[in-house]
Amino acid sequence: MHEFSVMSQIVDAIMEEAEKREAKKIEGVTIELGEFTMLGEEQMRFSFEVLAKGTMMEDAAVVFRRTDGEIECACGYRGAMSPSEDAAHGSTLILECPKCGGAATIVGGRECVIRDIRMVVPDV
Ligand SMILES: [Zn+2]
Repeated sequence: MHEFSVMSQIVDAIMEEAEKREAKKIEGVTIELGEFTMLGEEQMRFSFEVLAKGTMMEDAAVVFRRTDGEIECACGYRGAMSPSEDAAHGSTLILECPKCGGAATIVGGRECVIRDIRMVVPDV
């Protein structure tokens, strides 16, 4: 399950951040999933529950936010894919420029980013 290894990295990164700030507890995390990451939200959520069990982020509320992908074409087009494009199906991405119909390249939306971590830190 690809989601599990991605989530494992995210959880590691959160823990690292939490340790740096000497957090006592993680209350919530916002994670952005790019349109082209091919990561399932349900699987991500499940992976988080497994990975967070017994840690300070066990009760954290996880929010997933979808971010739009962006493609670029030789004709100068840069932007979203046409809505009819069904990129999520199949393992090979065939990207078509909505403007000229040519082959486009992905330039955005492949990231999985931790956008926000809410944690309880000790009073300074
Ligand atoms: Zn084009």
